[in-house]
Amino acid sequence: MTQKKHILALDQGTTSSRAIVFDALGQAVSVAQREFPQIYPRPGWVEHDPDAIWKTQLNTARRALRLAKLSAGDVAAIGITNQRETTLIWDRATGKPIANAIVWQDRRTTEMCKELKAAGHEADVQARTGLVLDPYFSGTKIAWLLNSDPALRARAEAGELAVGTIDSWLIARLTNGAVHATDPTNASRTLLYHLTDAAWDPALLDLLGVPQALLPEVRASAGDFGTAVGEHLGIEVPIAGVAGDQQAALFGQGCWEAGLAKNTFGTGAFLLLNTGAEAVPSTRGLLTTTACDAEGGLAYALEGSVFIAGAAVQWLRDGLGLLDAAPDSEGMARALDDNGGVYFVPAFVGLGAPHWEPDARGMLVGLTRGTSKEHLVRAALEAMAYGTAEVLAAMEADSGVETTELRVDGGAALNDWLMQLQADVLDIPVRRPALVETTALGAAGLAGIATGVWGSASDFLGVQEEGASRYEPSMGEEARTQLTSQWDRAVRAAVRWAQDV
Ligand code: ADP
Repeated sequence: MTQKKHILALDQGTTSSRAIVFDALGQAVSVAQREFPQIYPRPGWVEHDPDAIWKTQLNTARRALRLAKLSAGDVAAIGITNQRETTLIWDRATGKPIANAIVWQDRRTTEMCKELKAAGHEADVQARTGLVLDPYFSGTKIAWLLNSDPALRARAEAGELAVGTIDSWLIARLTNGAVHATDPTNASRTLLYHLTDAAWDPALLDLLGVPQALLPEVRASAGDFGTAVGEHLGIEVPIAGVAGDQQAALFGQGCWEAGLAKNTFGTGAFLLLNTGAEAVPSTRGLLTTTACDAEGGLAYALEGSVFIAGAAVQWLRDGLGLLDAAPDSEGMARALDDNGGVYFVPAFVGLGAPHWEPDARGMLVGLTRGTSKEHLVRAALEAMAYGTAEVLAAMEADSGVETTELRVDGGAALNDWLMQLQADVLDIPVRRPALVETTALGAAGLAGIATGVWGSASDFLGVQEEGASRYEPSMGEEARTQLTSQWDRAVRAAVRWAQDV
């Protein structure tokens, strides 16, 4: 057991870099956060400056340590969690980026994905990776970078260059280039990693024209990722935990066994269901991906998202001015006896799992002269609960696993009315931890288990039990069926609207 009892979690997100120091009780002792610029060179393109990512991350790490009045010598390990899929290439010798990072949101490889689909590759890619051919994932972004300059490919083949997701980039910088590594949760988002072989797949490297010499070594999420050299934090600190943001949140929620699921209620809703040692293929449009088991080793998960969740409340606030602040939605929903027959399908950017109708658009149904702004706000909250229930039902149907509890985090999970409705609609309990920073906590948990700060995953879970809120289902069968069947009708109407052109 280490005498050092703190963990430094680095949470590298899409719009900001954060660093949180956790103590052995899993409490956040200090937090530092820095935003960095989003770069939009052309419509549909989104880039990040890798040096801005590194500088803001290092700066917040130093600041969090200062705020905690700790020196790096008190820190047992660093855990890293990161925005997934975002990819960059750097020069191994100098550590300098070759170009800006291409962000997960970037759509520049849409044509490449269409061509691969037209050539009939999707089923095979899906069987190997659990993913679909979409610009979202790293593989076609790497191919695009290599195709953008003929000189790069030769250098890549000669082993002069390194490619990586943001975790790899931070590890390379922290170790001054000594370690080029990633973990399975990040690797499984690249379109290059074979899910069940748990290794880079030569057939996929060949398909996308990516030389093996570019790729990082894949190491277990809890384990040895090298040592941050002394010049960065004042003393050497081992890097001992790495996971992509959603998988880190799953681990931080204690969902390291089959059947445990979490939902992050943010701008969108992100659900993951741990399926244990089995990689479950989806027939309902979900992704199969890797997750962490109780030791931080390899497990599998089904992943599904609702594109618009909290963003619908944001739109009612900023677009229509119906409320001043998102938390006001709770009182407005509560003020009504029922939803007045109003349903809001917020398909602003199409419908995702399990409907997959990209041409769907938002739809409000059931309006009468008596419909008030409270009804619209309530309908936006209800939509989050129904959308979540649809994705969870698809996960259960794909996996044959019955979930017994949903663990929640994210901004909108603070809405008690919504969480009660969620429990009622699912007819299972909903549990919200006291600390909703589950992403950073998950990275800290992996690093702390690897270095003995926590003897086991249950020691780590034990520290978080206190202060959790639990919502027990209390709605009768008839009322639940009435609500969900009306929601189904509304979604069918939105799909019809998209298709009946
Ligand atoms: P992200 O990380 O995706 O930016 P957050 O987890 O910070 O999102 O959650 C913010 C989202 O949740 C916003 O879209 C906001 O409208 C919504 N939200 C925040 N608080 C509440 C609340 N109390 N009730 C309902 N929605 C909320």
